[in-house]
Amino acid sequence: MSAQLNLFTNSKLSFDESIQILIDSVNAIASNYDHWVFAWSGGKDSTTLVTLIMTLIDTGQIKHKPKTIDVLIADSRAELLPLQAGADQISKQLVDRGANVHKVVAEMDKRFMVYILGRGVPPPNNNTLRWCTRQIKIDPMKNKMEALFNRYGSKMLSFVGVRQGESAIRDGRIAMSCSANGTECGTGHLYESVDESISDKLMPILHFRTCVIWDWLQIYAPSKKFGNWETQLLAEAYGAYEEDDPREINARTGCNGCPLASKDVALITILKNPYWHYLKPLLNLRVIYDAMRLPKYRLRKKGGHRNKDGKLAKNQNRMGPIALKFRLEFLKQILQIQREINDHAIENNKPIIDIINSDEEARIRHLIEIGTYPNGWEGSEPMADEYFDIHGNDGTIQKSIF
Ligand code: SF4
Repeated sequence: MSAQLNLFTNSKLSFDESIQILIDSVNAIASNYDHWVFAWSGGKDSTTLVTLIMTLIDTGQIKHKPKTIDVLIADSRAELLPLQAGADQISKQLVDRGANVHKVVAEMDKRFMVYILGRGVPPPNNNTLRWCTRQIKIDPMKNKMEALFNRYGSKMLSFVGVRQGESAIRDGRIAMSCSANGTECGTGHLYESVDESISDKLMPILHFRTCVIWDWLQIYAPSKKFGNWETQLLAEAYGAYEEDDPREINARTGCNGCPLASKDVALITILKNPYWHYLKPLLNLRVIYDAMRLPKYRLRKKGGHRNKDGKLAKNQNRMGPIALKFRLEFLKQILQIQREINDHAIENNKPIIDIINSDEEARIRHLIEIGTYPNGWEGSEPMADEYFDIHGNDGTIQKSIF
């Protein structure tokens, strides 16, 4: 039985063909919308999308110019510095071309460091505690989109930089994973969470291969003819340094020391560039995040606790938040990392990092002072490294022998 042929079955798409498919899809669909919104993570795919579309509008290949173009970028307060600096440069260029750029940030108590150190919630992990992406990236973007919808009063069109390549399209796979190499944290989840009652979605680079992305970012976008886009810092964040080819390194971009990535490839890659070497203390963030998960710093439920419906909770004796006094110690360590980097940055006229600003530090200290814990925890629970009776959720108790 022969396989069913489709657009991508026979041969690889060239750069020009990839761009033409994008132009055709935008011209066919986007002209029905007066208000376009871009979900921009600052990574390679969504940067390609927004800079390419703006260029194609300028060159007249995209026929329809909407009334408004809003570009939303989530400031996770933990972005890799070259990526953040690159996004700042490109933001200015977008504004010069008439776009509204909105940096959206989570409300104070939900920000990465405030949530961990102020409230005591351990760093996210890939299993049961994946709280970060939605809280620090997706929800702020969704809130801003709702505000834009209320202002414009008509359905918008969201451009999402999801890119799966030809093989994934052929296989019918559209993975939304944030943990694979080469992905941008949050973009896939944003695709899933755009509220279709306020905005339709368009993914015009779904078919782009990695080489098309890098041809655009490294060759065409920075050229005068195609817009002089400042994409160099972005390429460096992915490893373009001297002979290195970013497409081979294929780093996954996201937060400094992302606790969900098995290895901090993006940061390690950036550190190979002598200019960014002063960021080396950031490697210690992962060491601190690992420590925060250890029983000796956390509380544990004694056992026997019940849900609101009176039934024994499933997860008896579970470990919980970081105890107050240790949060202060971790805060001190992270501020020390920040100070060390910024002392060097100021001395050498380089960009500074901003992991915990003064408002966030004050808020963290206040939350610790008033004894803030996550819901369901009081702070009177025993430390997790103490001996304890093991409670089963069927009511059985295995007494500690100590
Ligand atoms: S990069 Fe890592 S820490 Fe940051 S939001 Fe994504 S998964 Fe969470």
